[in-house]
Amino acid sequence: MATHTQGEEKRKVRGSCLCKTVRYELNADADMVWYNICHCIDCRKASGSAFSLDICFSETRSEYKITQGEDALGCWIERNTVSGNPVSRYFCTKCGSLVKLGNPLKPDRHDQSGGGHTPEERERLDRVFVAAGTLDDPVTWVPSQEVFCKDRLPWLQESGLDVPQLHME
Ligand SMILES: [Zn+2]
Ligand SMILES: [Zn+2]
Repeated sequence: MATHTQGEEKRKVRGSCLCKTVRYELNADADMVWYNICHCIDCRKASGSAFSLDICFSETRSEYKITQGEDALGCWIERNTVSGNPVSRYFCTKCGSLVKLGNPLKPDRHDQSGGGHTPEERERLDRVFVAAGTLDDPVTWVPSQEVFCKDRLPWLQESGLDVPQLHME
């Protein structure tokens, strides 16, 4: 279903959790900040898989929004992360799919005061991390880097993508 806004049509990318209770969309032409393949133990545990795929966008500029099932989203705040940055992990409380991640320090979206943050801090707080496996069509974007490569499972070969391999040791 196309979304029309005053004559111009924006291409949307959509995704959902496994049971499709939670659905979201964002602008298909949004610039990603980065697209991580993350091999860290936190991402292994949270995904139940060998690594995670998450794409970082500006939530505002990408026009990311939950279009259905926001009530069904649970949130677990992970404070003791390998990167040192606290992370909110949002998941469907019906099927358990990890749908997105965010910054738990993000101010209320209706707070226009700036909350005492510098523009750089506000930019960081505005980021949303889309769990890329939940995209309906996961080939729109391609990973831009692999991180925590030192934790890559020994039987797992490199992705073959010509992208930076960070945290090798
Ligand atoms: Zn679900
Ligand atoms: Zn990770």
